[in-house]
Amino acid sequence: MKVSNWIANEATSASAWLDDLNPATSEVIARIPRSTAQDVDAAVQAAKAAQGWAEAPERARMLRAIADALEARIDELAELESRDQGKPVSLARAVDIPRAVANFRFFASAIEQETLEHHPMPGALNTTHRKPIGVCGLITPWNLPLYLLTWKVAPALAMGNTLVAKPSELTPLTADALGRICADILPPGVLNIVHGLGPEAGQALVEHPYVKAISFTGGTDTGRRVAATAAPMFKKLSLELGGKNATVIFDDADLDEAVPGAVRAAFANQGEICLCGSRILVQSGIHDAFVARFLEAVGELVVGDPADPATDVGALNSLAHRDKVQGYVEGAFEEGAKVYGGGIPDLPAPFDAGAFLRPAVIADLPHTARCAVEEIFGPVVTLHPFDTEAEAVEMANHVEYGLAASVWTRDLSRAHRVSQALDVGMVWVNTWLLRDLRVPFGGVKNSGVGREGGRWSMEFYSENKNICVKL
Ligand code: NAP
Repeated sequence: MKVSNWIANEATSASAWLDDLNPATSEVIARIPRSTAQDVDAAVQAAKAAQGWAEAPERARMLRAIADALEARIDELAELESRDQGKPVSLARAVDIPRAVANFRFFASAIEQETLEHHPMPGALNTTHRKPIGVCGLITPWNLPLYLLTWKVAPALAMGNTLVAKPSELTPLTADALGRICADILPPGVLNIVHGLGPEAGQALVEHPYVKAISFTGGTDTGRRVAATAAPMFKKLSLELGGKNATVIFDDADLDEAVPGAVRAAFANQGEICLCGSRILVQSGIHDAFVARFLEAVGELVVGDPADPATDVGALNSLAHRDKVQGYVEGAFEEGAKVYGGGIPDLPAPFDAGAFLRPAVIADLPHTARCAVEEIFGPVVTLHPFDTEAEAVEMANHVEYGLAASVWTRDLSRAHRVSQALDVGMVWVNTWLLRDLRVPFGGVKNSGVGREGGRWSMEFYSENKNICVKL
């Protein structure tokens, strides 16, 4: 299979190619363009020429048409996402692809229902207008490929911009499918997709002088590089970066809810979600009971063939990433940790060549240990006991990241108190990853700058303009 760049609704190729692997088997499943700065420039020129492409009602109609086309192909897209990313196909079918559909429908409605402000003053009237920014560059990671790409594409189109997207070179397949679908729905040049390496195609996109805004989701180090390039050019920047999120379990938590919640938070999508609860802080009174039930539940997770509906944990995204994650577990063991589970599972061919790891639970290390403060981004979780509420907050806030947390308690006052005290952008109480697309999404500290979601995305992908009329 050959993946194309999509420039002005044409499938274009490049002068060099990269292999795209199925991480569950290490087989080459596609060849993708290794785009150069010239390819990126062609995409930006197409986007520049397409500006002013439709008024809001027409844009809403096109977004709904894209949603319908994605929805009609849910099974095929879920299978592509699973083969490319390693995640269980059941997860892609239930979550990733439906969420991509929802992203388009949500912003189609949002743009139709948008209200603008006016500020009357004595003898004059101010009206506020939202204008598209122009050409926006969208850069996305490999963990939730179509879900996160469409979380940027949908609001950016809704606000009338034209786009150049650079998906992760590790997971290009559903972006290619989106390009093909949009070529039949959007005018040429409105959505352009270039594949290739981050430091080449991604960097060229960030550097391009016609690209007025960069929306980036990825690692904190890459985000720092993107910001260093874009800031001196005064580009609008949205950075959604890494996380090291705490799951805080208090003595009065309902373990029937907290145990499966903590398991899901730690190991959903192989732990490859920026929001994963990769540190579990447990109050001493419930510690032993929680840990016993947690370990039992983790031991029941099925690791293996992502296409098997019984699989809970698929392949990590690459062998290199698997080795990095495994390195953290080995490092923790050498530091004296107790490690439950973990290790490479014994799977039959062709999965013996895949990037699989069994879920690992690390205990008996301080909350300041390397594996408890750095983002591992795999099926690894650390356990830490605490005594008081203040201690829990201090431990949770100890890391450089500040994306999300979940708090498990039956005490409503404590839930509010602790949620307020946590230095993060998002807190879930007695749940995890329950999402309403209207709410602000994003982190503090090294987890990013800016917010996405609902009106925050609409703000980001537009420029507000004031017109003051003297009466
Ligand atoms: P990454 O290595 O930072 O890559 C993200 C994207 O940036 C990829 O498309 C990458 O291309 C591109 N890129 C790399 N170098 C670049 C450069 N110099 N200029 C422009 N673009 C460049 O992140 P990842 O490993 O794909 O994803 C995992 C990370 O994403 C984790 O840290 C996770 O927490 C974070 N994440 C955050 C959120 C959030 O909402 N906060 C959501 C999901 C994931 P290549 O793939 O070709 O290198």
